[in-house]
Amino acid sequence: MRIDLHTHSNRSDGTDSPTELIENAKAAGLDVVALTDHDCTDGWREASKAAKRVGIELVKGIEISCRLDGKSIHLLGYEFDPNNGPLVEELRRVIDGRNSRLPATLERLRGLGIEIEARDVRRWSGNAAAMGRPHIADALIELGVVASRNEAFDRFLMPGKAAYVDRYAADLFGAIGLLNAAGGVAVIAHPWSRGSHKVLTASMFAKLREAGLSGIEIDHNDHDQEDRALLRQIARELDFVQTGSSDYHGTGKIDFDLGCNTTAYNQFQKLRGRKPRHVG
Ligand code: AMP
Ligand code: ZN
Ligand code: FE
Ligand code: FE
Repeated sequence: MRIDLHTHSNRSDGTDSPTELIENAKAAGLDVVALTDHDCTDGWREASKAAKRVGIELVKGIEISCRLDGKSIHLLGYEFDPNNGPLVEELRRVIDGRNSRLPATLERLRGLGIEIEARDVRRWSGNAAAMGRPHIADALIELGVVASRNEAFDRFLMPGKAAYVDRYAADLFGAIGLLNAAGGVAVIAHPWSRGSHKVLTASMFAKLREAGLSGIEIDHNDHDQEDRALLRQIARELDFVQTGSSDYHGTGKIDFDLGCNTTAYNQFQKLRGRKPRHVG
């Protein structure tokens, strides 16, 4: 069984349509693939149809933009009710924050002498419910300002760079509660990428476990072997489910190919076993 629990389509900042993503997952030899677009579930319906057609199991998921002690943390959620009121309201706030950040970012870029308009970005984010900095990066590539998404982040879009603008993110503990209340399970995505090891300590993981967190994404390209060994130890001590995944973004992120990291079948079963029985 080859199981990949973290991928993106063009409903957020991936470059494949949900159908293409499913076809590519099948071609990559996966048996199970989760669609986890940023802050939206808009790709579920199309992915679901494609998955039935090509004969692959789809896990319906999301990657929610969260915050913990001022640090950006990504939270994966699986198999929750996408119509749950409080969850839908919180996701709306995050999407609104994404949209209202765009003009501010463009203003900064223009301040740097780069002539860029909202329509240049909308061309790339057209299919996305959750638009993001990668779409601004795509517009900068087209304008000939940078050669890649990576270069756009490194020069302009990362925290600390001249065109970085903050946006609304959900409280991490709150988002875990919302996912559980909607019948889903929560897994921390790439916990130690981009400086978040400073807030996601072993004692914080213990508190998150109490709050209803089910798993930790350990095998991810942002983690080196040492990170993985340490995270595995934390997961064993706190009885977390251990997942692994690609965080595939199509051609938007190189070296994150479908199935480059996978989740063991017994861990996948354990994750499903953590689904709340009583949904209120
Ligand atoms: P945003 O959703 O606007 O906060 O942008 C963050 C997203 O951009 C992340 O979830 C990644 O998918 C992507 N990203 C972050 N850093 C980079 C990078 N250096 N190169 C390409 N994509 C990146
Ligand atoms: Zn992304
Ligand atoms: Fe992420
Ligand atoms: Fe992701």
